Amino acid sequence: MPEHVVIIGSGPAGWTAAIYAARANLKPLLLEGAVTEENRLQGTMPLGQLALTTEVENYPGFPAGDLSAYLRSALSSDFHWLIDLHQKEGCSGPELMHLMRQQATNFGTRVVTDDIVNIDIDSEDGQHSPFKLRSLGGESIEAHSIILATGARANYLGLESEEKFKNRGVSACAVCDGALPRFRDRPLVVVGGGDSAVEEADYLSKFASTVYMIHRRDQLRASKIMAKRALDNPKIDVVWNSVVDEVLGNDSQGVTGVRIQSTVNNSTRDLEAAGMFLSIGHTPNTAFLQGKLELTKKRYVRWTVPFRTNTSVHGIFAAGDVADDYYRQAITAAGSGCMAALDAERWLAAQGL
Ligand code: NAP
Repeated sequence: MPEHVVIIGSGPAGWTAAIYAARANLKPLLLEGAVTEENRLQGTMPLGQLALTTEVENYPGFPAGDLSAYLRSALSSDFHWLIDLHQKEGCSGPELMHLMRQQATNFGTRVVTDDIVNIDIDSEDGQHSPFKLRSLGGESIEAHSIILATGARANYLGLESEEKFKNRGVSACAVCDGALPRFRDRPLVVVGGGDSAVEEADYLSKFASTVYMIHRRDQLRASKIMAKRALDNPKIDVVWNSVVDEVLGNDSQGVTGVRIQSTVNNSTRDLEAAGMFLSIGHTPNTAFLQGKLELTKKRYVRWTVPFRTNTSVHGIFAAGDVADDYYRQAITAAGSGCMAALDAERWLAAQGL
């Protein structure tokens, strides 16, 4: 018997879709991703991008404060090690994701730790459903509907030193991490010259003493109005024609600076900084969807109906960052996960399934 709904992805969009689908008695099967070295290296392990962050201070319902008693009561004992890891304020990204996972399984979501590598969408009679899915581990699954929630991954420079200091000063999300105490009144670095880089630099300038925007050319890619915002901000110092060559730091302090190299004459110099924020774009996790359904120019899944999560294939819905290159927040991903579950439920009902 085909599954009613298969959810692919285990970030906030996937778990929220699972909670809603399970409560609608659709008995969802969720593929949370495979634990492989390739996934680790590219930041696509189970539980998604939030599992790679530290504190989450802007997810409604999780105010600052000691939540350890609540977390201990809400998480199964298998995950109490997370709480014991460090005493801190509020909730961490991994804790939030484990809470969502637990909430989804409490309602009966079945979870498989595997990637989907192929979806067979072709059909002879024009009716796509049931879809045939194949997993990395070789499993075959049939599903009447699918919710795509595989997210996106931040692009990094690919430096060894950058990898070493991830979560200890290297971040790809100023909104997530910028307000952390370690960055307050300290010089910070933003890499990139697009609208996102300006937005990140502008945001960070509220906390930092100076924000160095490192851009590889002599002109920003950002729109004129955004570029003006950066250039007019006395706390933003644009470092033109430069790339980060190495992230500097040590085990006790994390990031202490960056070595930058001129793209004009190859000369290098060191800049003192408590953090480096990457803003050089994101890559949606859609490689397995190429040629299967409509993607945007940037290879995000295209939502085809305004204010709905429909894709170009009937019965396949998308939620979260895999289809959203604009908001990219945990709460917006969760919101669209809820929408996708409701859309799938109504679509299944309309098919009499
Ligand atoms: P983007 O426009 O593609 O800009 C990426 C920036 O990163 C570029 O300046 C690029 O340099 C630089 N870059 C890329 N790879 C690099 C590397 N390996 N090393 C160093 N620098 C590198 O991406 P985005 O800023 O994330 O924006 C994405 C889309 O969202 C855009 O359409 C943007 O307009 C939109 N957006 C709009 C707003 C807003 O209007 N408020 C806010 C955020 C985003 P080059 O310029 O040399 O290529």
